[in-house]
Amino acid sequence: MDRRTFLAALAAPLAASCEFADGRPRPATGRLLGPDMALGHRLLVDPAPAPTETLRVPVVIIGGGIGGLSAAWQLARDDVSDFRLFEMEAESGGNARSGENEVSAFPWGAHYLPLPTREGRSIRELLSDLGVLSGSIDAEMPVYEERHLVHVPQERLYISGLWQEGLLPRIGVAQRDFEQYRRFEDMVQRYKAARDRTGRKPFALPIRMSGIDAAAHALDATSMRDWLLAQGFDSPFLHWYADYACRDDYGTRAADTSAWAGLHYYACRDGQAANADSHSVLTWPEGNGWIVKRLSEWLQAHGAAPVQTRALCTRLSTTRTGAELDIFLAAEQRSIRVRAEQVLWAAPAFVLARVWENPPPGLREAAARVDYVPWLVANLTLDARPDDLGPAGLAWDNVLYESNALGYVVATHQAIRVKPGATVITWYRPLTDGSPREARMRLANTDWKTWVDEIVAELARPHPALPGLLKRIDIWRWAHAMPRPVPGFLRRPLSALLAGLDRPLAFAHSDLGGLSLFEEAHDAGVRAAQRVRRMRR
Ligand SMILES: Cc1cc2nc3c(=O)[nH]c(=O)nc-3n(C[C@H](O)[C@H](O)[C@H](O)COP(=O)(O)OP(=O)(O)OC[C@H]3O[C@@H](n4cnc5c(N)ncnc54)[C@H](O)[C@@H]3O)c2cc1C
Repeated sequence: MDRRTFLAALAAPLAASCEFADGRPRPATGRLLGPDMALGHRLLVDPAPAPTETLRVPVVIIGGGIGGLSAAWQLARDDVSDFRLFEMEAESGGNARSGENEVSAFPWGAHYLPLPTREGRSIRELLSDLGVLSGSIDAEMPVYEERHLVHVPQERLYISGLWQEGLLPRIGVAQRDFEQYRRFEDMVQRYKAARDRTGRKPFALPIRMSGIDAAAHALDATSMRDWLLAQGFDSPFLHWYADYACRDDYGTRAADTSAWAGLHYYACRDGQAANADSHSVLTWPEGNGWIVKRLSEWLQAHGAAPVQTRALCTRLSTTRTGAELDIFLAAEQRSIRVRAEQVLWAAPAFVLARVWENPPPGLREAAARVDYVPWLVANLTLDARPDDLGPAGLAWDNVLYESNALGYVVATHQAIRVKPGATVITWYRPLTDGSPREARMRLANTDWKTWVDEIVAELARPHPALPGLLKRIDIWRWAHAMPRPVPGFLRRPLSALLAGLDRPLAFAHSDLGGLSLFEEAHDAGVRAAQRVRRMRR
């Protein structure tokens, strides 16, 4: 596909009204959206115009996702205010962006935060600053504001034509499957309780706090699916559950996910709350977009310069004492040159490898070996809540057993004020069929109508009346959503290279640990900011 066709495919217009194949009316409208790929494409083909101005800024942050915003938060907390943050999109948030319409706010990507673990002290500090956690951040069982804890019912599963509570399949499941569930749960509990000689957990969050030893590398050498089989787990329901978890957290099938990463999903999360059970999560109508908004307001209130949006870093060069960056300002169609003492790089590693003129040896090759999986997210605006089959009523998270997608979350589940009857549901699907490259081509080549047909056909199985309730479907395409933690990811040379970067550049994006999670992004941002602070003393 040539560039013109590629860009034309990305700039999909407002879709027109028509019918589904079976004659039912299609929702009146909807849009195919996504990150500004035409702007991002500049890094590949269009040279940016020569800079017309040079600025001196002591500290520069590139990327306004959770990593970049967390770095800014930590700098501001440490009384460092002479920094500027440049973000290529029209809004900050990265994978945690959100949208809003007349019915509700809704997520475009990240939608929840599990209760922070003991290692996640900095996240508890952030949540305290944002008014989500009240009382002591060091309490064994912190208190979280009720309205931010997920309301019941939290989750349900559609299986064998019925909805059941919880995601572990129970309908049509035999005694030997239940026995395997119990044995698996026992193993997870043992992993949770285990400590090495230095007191480290085998699976901690952030993962840099895990005790990575020979046993961890042995787990990492195999896939989650093969590990289950090697342990004698052959229950198709348990395999579905593990596969769902790998797709949910990593956008990767269990057969392609490192067993260490697969087990990490279950064994790392041991956060507690005084006023919720340990499986509870923090969530908002707009998902983690709520954190992005509140964090941006906090930064403004603490004297940080506003995030400069539609500002794409197109070139970086470094010396031992400083860095020079070219930033293309899309709104003005011109570039500026920025001279900085220190740079916090909070954009993905593959972008760094592309723009850095003099990277350390091996960085480009190491970055090229990491695959990013694409995701599709659809927001469906409905005139009324979808109808139900079975005893378990509409939950926050609603998952379908037989599906390549992950189901949907309900934006209005947490809402205090909502237009009566109407709702927005957010449907998620990582594109796990074929290679990430092939999936990206499918993402670019598939039109709104084709996606809508697939999504509505799937959701009409549990909700036969849903097509008649649809007002609009807006679809977001994430081309490089998250790196795949394939077997061997713990030994990736990229992580070691990024962790070892020295002045003037610190890496502050979730790619650092290789797991695309809020906790990893926040930790990378905060640690990079602390390093900058130390160097300035
Ligand atoms: C669909 C989806 C659902 C998810 N759900 C969850 C969830 O529920 N919970 C969870 O914990 N995690 C979830 N995640 C993972 C999510 O990626 C992380 O939680 C986190 O938001 C990653 O933050 P980050 O700052 O590391 O990266 P990013 O979000 O990738 O932010 C990087 C930023 O850098 C900007 N940028 C890139 N290149 C340049 C450049 N050259 N110049 C300037 N700016 C640039 C980008 O526009 C972006 O804003 C989800 C991810 C996706 C895609």
